[in-house]
Amino acid sequence: MMAFSRIAAVFLSLLALVSCGDQQIEQHPVYRIQAGSDLKIFVTTDIHYLSKSLTDGGAAFQRDLALGDGKQLRYSEELMKAFAYDVQIQKPDITLISGDLTNNGEKQSHLDMAGHLKAMESSSGTQVYVIPGNHDLLNPWSKSFKGQHQYKADSISPKKFRKIYAPFGYDEALSKDRHSLSYLATPSDKLWLLMLDTNMYRNNKELRHPQLEGRLSSSTLKWIDQCGKLAKQKGAIIVGVMHHSLLDHSELMHDGFTIQNTQKVSEVLLRNGIVTVFSGHIHIQDISSYKQGTEQIYDVANSALSVYPHQFGIMTYSNANHALDFSTSPLHMELWAAAHRVADPNLQHFKPYSGSSFGQLSFNGSYRRLTQNLSYTKYTEPQLQAMANVIQRLHKNFFAGSRVEDLDDITSSEGYQLWLTAPPGSQKNYVLQLAHQRDKDNQHLHVTFP
Ligand code: FE
Ligand code: MN
Repeated sequence: MMAFSRIAAVFLSLLALVSCGDQQIEQHPVYRIQAGSDLKIFVTTDIHYLSKSLTDGGAAFQRDLALGDGKQLRYSEELMKAFAYDVQIQKPDITLISGDLTNNGEKQSHLDMAGHLKAMESSSGTQVYVIPGNHDLLNPWSKSFKGQHQYKADSISPKKFRKIYAPFGYDEALSKDRHSLSYLATPSDKLWLLMLDTNMYRNNKELRHPQLEGRLSSSTLKWIDQCGKLAKQKGAIIVGVMHHSLLDHSELMHDGFTIQNTQKVSEVLLRNGIVTVFSGHIHIQDISSYKQGTEQIYDVANSALSVYPHQFGIMTYSNANHALDFSTSPLHMELWAAAHRVADPNLQHFKPYSGSSFGQLSFNGSYRRLTQNLSYTKYTEPQLQAMANVIQRLHKNFFAGSRVEDLDDITSSEGYQLWLTAPPGSQKNYVLQLAHQRDKDNQHLHVTFP
């Protein structure tokens, strides 16, 4: 009897798989969230977590930070704990992370990260789902810092990624793509998640850096059609999550940031009823959309959790309205620090601390590039400083995706006037484009479903 029921179970589970070429998809999703519930979902990205065991905070680490792009790597541990505290207080049903979980794919950073996610799930009841970003896999830049020196650190393979993050998507998936680390998760009867691996990491070793570009292969696109078909049968909405941009977000960032086959992928997503995608990678907050006939798809690029102003997204799904609402939320580092009696004043007053260190980094980088540019040798030191100051001010709004409230003030400044009369070049174009970003809301979105 025992043997028979086991055989019957195997037979039934085989029946439950529908083949399409070499792809298979199960027909019977198990929903952990009660049927018909409204949902609250946290969406974050580009945490770039660096294990504390990989840095002593010494000279080599400080040098790396000074040449970096504003990630608060010094406070990786605290950023994760503060985020977990927000999750614990607000108890979202689901927490999504769209890649670049680690600084440069260090094995120890991944192991620590999985530990944080496990604690987050058990303290809040949230369900965490992750996908990798271009920095997370087979990364030749994986390193540790000690004193004056950097040392090579172990990175991880895609197979290892699947294993480390088994409890955060891979073991719970209804279907896994055979050609990438993409999977379909079905946490609720109403809302499914298409977690897409857009990374290209196979040539990282030869390139000696993590490949920036992303795309989805034609076999992954076929698999998406299967996922879409099943969701339609079951009456579920699918939301997409990917690391690279689905759509261009700014004239300043597209090559290497938007997936190479943006047109094809947008078509495939639209024909499967997928009209909302969350991405990361560009480290700025920006919402763009693409229209095809009467249909429209949105790509919400969230800014990096590790970079000022340290915000993340909150999405709610209303069953009655059949609609998604998205808005950004600040990370409450100060609340976490107060609740845990953290003595470090930088953490007690994290927003001003991080804002000024981000501003300083942005100023220093711009000033350095100006002094190295031969077209600008005729300018005095105070003039170059005024010009660098313009970039610093424009960057703050650009990264946050917020309206430039003080734009008139910036454009009437001496530094901006110097830029206007400066000789043509890429730095000048950059500044003019930063000042003329399209004025749109990148922090809110409302999507209704038919
Ligand atoms: Fe990143
Ligand atoms: Mn990235």
